[in-house]
Amino acid sequence: MSPVRLEIVTAEKMVFSEEIDALVAPGVEGALGILPNHVPLMTLLDAGEMKIRKGHEEFYIAVSGGFLEVRPDKIIVLADSAERDDEIDLSRAEEARRRAVERIGSHATNVDIRRAEAALHRSMARIKVARRTRRGGETQL
Ligand code: ATP
Repeated sequence: MSPVRLEIVTAEKMVFSEEIDALVAPGVEGALGILPNHVPLMTLLDAGEMKIRKGHEEFYIAVSGGFLEVRPDKIIVLADSAERDDEIDLSRAEEARRRAVERIGSHATNVDIRRAEAALHRSMARIKVARRTRRGGETQL
């Protein structure tokens, strides 16, 4: 099967733009596998890991939600935020996770639980992706 172009963009920058052979994206209804020649599709993404295969190479990108559109000529991901595995600051993500867990567990009336949960999911996606290519980091998911 001939490869298809995948573009992952945020409001700030183009994070990824290459011809790829396969993609697994974190759709809101579960992981979504996409190969070249997939039927046109538009879906919402959750915070999670994008797994990309290009020949024998694999790329991992953490996204924090957004849209995915399969067009006849390319796949476009418009992400709220997106970082390649080597761009992720693992300690920052672990700190964000710790703060989110603390907020969720505090039962304080001024805590916006949905916001804290969204921050938790973003941080967990980053930690998962960062740990794919690195060792170290103290917290276990
Ligand atoms: P934090 O509380 O650490 O800021 P956050 O989940 O609130 O985390 P976002 O609002 O999702 O952060 O992202 C703000 C910007 O910072 C985005 O450009 C995002 O790509 C970047 N970013 C957030 N966390 C990390 C991280 N751990 N490593 C690298 N870039 C990050």
